[in-house]
Amino acid sequence: EAHDCADSIPKLNKMVTGVQALGNIRVFCRCRPQNKDDISAGCATVVDFDAAKDGDLGILNGGSTKKTFKFDRVYTPKDSQVDVFADASPMVTSVLDGYNVCIFAYGQTGTGKTFTMEGTEQNRGVNYRTLDQLFEITKERSETFTYNISVSVLEVYNEQIRDLLATSPTSKKLEVKQSSGGSHHVPGILEARVNSTREAWNVLQAGSNARAVGSNNVNEHSSRSHCMLCIMVRAKNLINGECTNSKLWLVDLAGSERLARTDVQGERLKEAQNINRSLSALGDVIYALATKSSHIPYRNSKLTHLLQDSLGGDSKTLMFVQISPSEKDLSETLSSLNFATRVRGIELGPAKKQI
Ligand code: ADP
Repeated sequence: EAHDCADSIPKLNKMVTGVQALGNIRVFCRCRPQNKDDISAGCATVVDFDAAKDGDLGILNGGSTKKTFKFDRVYTPKDSQVDVFADASPMVTSVLDGYNVCIFAYGQTGTGKTFTMEGTEQNRGVNYRTLDQLFEITKERSETFTYNISVSVLEVYNEQIRDLLATSPTSKKLEVKQSSGGSHHVPGILEARVNSTREAWNVLQAGSNARAVGSNNVNEHSSRSHCMLCIMVRAKNLINGECTNSKLWLVDLAGSERLARTDVQGERLKEAQNINRSLSALGDVIYALATKSSHIPYRNSKLTHLLQDSLGGDSKTLMFVQISPSEKDLSETLSSLNFATRVRGIELGPAKKQI
């Protein structure tokens, strides 16, 4: 069925005028269970969940000193995918109301970023549950709204954007461009129109599978690239004819760990520098929004440039900071928690209403 909202102005652009750097950021901290290696090595646990219900996470440093970090939510290893999505779901719904949303998972490799976002077939993660909820609500609202939903799947590796839905590799470099309406997109990228959770999931799986192509080790490659799903929603209100465009980014970031200096040479050094640069750029953008800087450095990395419409303005951002419970990972855990704390500092209260 034809949908005549193709050229409608994205909601963000209507809203952003005169509203400087309003942010709406939530940070949820999730700790993975101890794994076989932790247990067989007799590795001590450094996390304390006594006050997890209040969003407090205790970290035992050097046995006795305890440092407490505060988040919007803290999940223990016992909390399920259902528990986690229950907290994320209001943000997902807001996409259908015209908001841009970004949900991303940050942390050291092996701490559960992919588990949280993608999950497993028995234990679906945020991505699948998001699609399911979107289609469920569009059905409920079908008398008042028509929705067009399409998806793109991208990867950012070494500061290069790759279209994971493209059937043949293109030599043309993919770049982020700003449209006349002010929103950001990547010309030439494939957008697959989808009508159901199953259809969308199949497209996303095809995209995920394409990540492996051209790399020797799939797991290593995934941990060094950002996997980015974009769900684009075009809504038309059947009563007043109003149209909105909005998008939801679901991002499984590259592993945040620092590599030992001696391990890093050649290609690996370049990868490590690119990851470091893009994750720092993400932190810098959010910090600039928090401090209402007149310049938000979106263009310092492909990651932040791609996410530009969904960071700042009246968009909503949710970060999962993923951690390990194990003493051997303590320094990475502290570094992730510190990054997340800086991000959380930007919570700026309710957005001012536009007149
Ligand atoms: P990352 O994407 O951060 O590298 P993964 O998602 O691959 O980490 O997780 C590493 C391993 O730990 C996987 O086998 C995953 O299934 C398991 N895991 C992570 N988080 C959880 C959790 N909350 N509950 C059960 N298993 C988990």
